[in-house]
Amino acid sequence: MSILQEPIQEPLELHNYIDGEWVASEGEVIDVVNPATLKPIARVPLSTAAEFDQAVQAAQAAFEDWRRTPPLARARCLFRLKELMEQEFETLSRIQTMEHGKTIDESRGETRRGIEMVEVATGIPSLMMGNNLEDVASGIDEYLIRQPLGVFGIIGPYNFPCMVPLWFIPFALATGNTVVVKPSSEDPISQVKIAELAEEAGFPEGVWNVVHGGRGVVGTMLDHPAIEGVCFVGSTPVAKNVIYPRCGATGKRVIAQGGAKNFGLVMPDADLAPTIAACMTSFFGNTGQRCLANANLVVVGEGLSASAREALYQRVVEAFVAAARRITIGYGLDETVQMGPLRDPEKKANVVRYIERGIAEGARLCLDGRTFTVQGDYPRDAFLGPTVFADVTPEMTIAQEEIFGPVAAILKARDLEEAIAMIHANPFGNAASIFTGSGKWAREFQYRTRCGNIGINIGLAAPMAFFPFSGMKDSFLGVLHGQGQDTIRFFTESKVVIQRWF
Ligand code: NAD
Repeated sequence: MSILQEPIQEPLELHNYIDGEWVASEGEVIDVVNPATLKPIARVPLSTAAEFDQAVQAAQAAFEDWRRTPPLARARCLFRLKELMEQEFETLSRIQTMEHGKTIDESRGETRRGIEMVEVATGIPSLMMGNNLEDVASGIDEYLIRQPLGVFGIIGPYNFPCMVPLWFIPFALATGNTVVVKPSSEDPISQVKIAELAEEAGFPEGVWNVVHGGRGVVGTMLDHPAIEGVCFVGSTPVAKNVIYPRCGATGKRVIAQGGAKNFGLVMPDADLAPTIAACMTSFFGNTGQRCLANANLVVVGEGLSASAREALYQRVVEAFVAAARRITIGYGLDETVQMGPLRDPEKKANVVRYIERGIAEGARLCLDGRTFTVQGDYPRDAFLGPTVFADVTPEMTIAQEEIFGPVAAILKARDLEEAIAMIHANPFGNAASIFTGSGKWAREFQYRTRCGNIGINIGLAAPMAFFPFSGMKDSFLGVLHGQGQDTIRFFTESKVVIQRWF
C-alpha cells in the first residue's frame, strides 16, 4: 500500500486478502472519507457472499497445516509481525488519524495497544498448556489438552480500526486457528496495512484473510457453516439482536461486545486537579467515541451537609468546564491538536440531536460544543466541541443513552449508595470509575459495581492485553472475553484424555 500522504492525490483502491492474494472484489464500492478534510482517501468494496465463502474455504484449507505447526513456530510469525509493526509505527498511526479522525497521539496509543496484543500472544507455548493429574484412579492418569477449532470470523467497529480486531486475531492464530477479518467499512485501511505486514511476516497463505463489507458480509459470516466462532465489537443493538441470537441459532461460539454508558464518581476527598485532568481524557479523548469513555460524572456528597454538597458540586462543574473549554480542536495530524472530528457528519448530527434533547429535558448547558473553533482551514461538518451539561438527572435521555460523542453530563448523588444505584439502573455495564482518597469507598465501589472494568483514580479503565477485556449487562453478551487467558479458552476446545495401560 502506498503511504497515505497529504494532500491525497488518488484514493487507495482497497482489495480483499484471500488465500495470500490481494484480490479485487466484484461488489459495490464506497468511499472512505477523511472526516477532517472530507476528502475520499480510499475506496472499499462491499464484498459478495461468494467472495466471503472463498476466504472461508482458504482459511479452512490452511487450518490443517497451521494447527500442526508447533506453537513456537506460530509465535515466530507473531514476533516478526511485532517487529514490522514497530517499524511501521508512525505509518499505522497516521492511517488511523486519516481514516478515523482521532489525534495522532491517540492513534499512537492505539497502535501501541495493538502491538501489545501481538506481544502477549507470542507467549502461546505457555498460555496454551493444559493440565494433568496422575492416578485419578489406580493406574489411571487424566490430562486436558487445548485444541484449536478452525475458522473464526472477526468483526470490527469503526472507533478503533487498528486495535480492536487485534484483541482477537493474534490469539486466534497463536492457538492454531485461522481467521477471516471484516473491518469496519467506515475505516478499513488499518486492517489492510496490518494484513500486508502479516504477509511480510510470513503467515502462511489462507491463515489470515480480510474481506471488506458491511452487514451483508456479517450475515454471510453468521450463517456460514464453516465459521466456528465469531468475535464482534460494536453497538449493543447489533450485538444483542443480530450477532448473539444468530450465533446461538447456528451453534457458533461468540464474543459480542456492545455499547456503553460509563459513570465516573467524584467523592468529596478526591484530589480535584488530577481528577479533572483524568476526566478530560476519559470524556473527550477519541472525541468521546470510546466504549470506555466516561459519559456521566456523578459528584457524590457522602458525609456532607446539603450546602457543602452543593458547594462541592459547583466546584467540580466549574473546574470541569474550565478544562473542557481549553481543549483545542482540529485535524489530528497537527501535533498540537487535542481533539479531532467525529467520524462523519452523520455521527455529529446524531450527537447534536442529543444536545438538543438535553436542553429540551431541562439540563443546564454549561459549555455548548456546537460553537467551536477549528485550528486550520478545514470543513466544519464533522467537528464538534466539548459539551458539558450540569444539573442532569438520571432519567434524562442524555444520562441514559450512549451518545458516543464529546458530551459530558454532570449529576449529583447524596452518597455512594445512591451513586451506585444510578449505575445499576443503567442497562450498560462496561466501565465505571471512582475518584477518591479513601480505600474504604474504593473497595466498596469495586466490590458492588456491576461493571466489567473498574477504574480507581483512573478515568479510562482499559485492561492490558494479558487481562480480559470485560463488560457486563448490555455491554457484553457471551461468557469468555477478548484478551488474556479468556481468549485462549475461547479459541480452543478443551479435550480430556483418561488413560490406562494394561
Ligand atoms: P456497529 O454496531 O454499527 O458496527 C460494528 C460492526 O458491525 C461493523 O463492522 C459493521 O459493519 C457491522 N454492522 C453494523 N450494523 C450491522 C447489522 N445490522 N448487521 C450486521 N452487522 C452490522 O458499531 P460501530 O458504530 O462501528 O461502533 C461503535 C459502537 O461499538 C459503540 O456502541 C461502542 O460502544 C461499541 N464498542 C464497544 C466496545 C467494547 O469493548 N464493548 C469497544 C469498541 C466499540
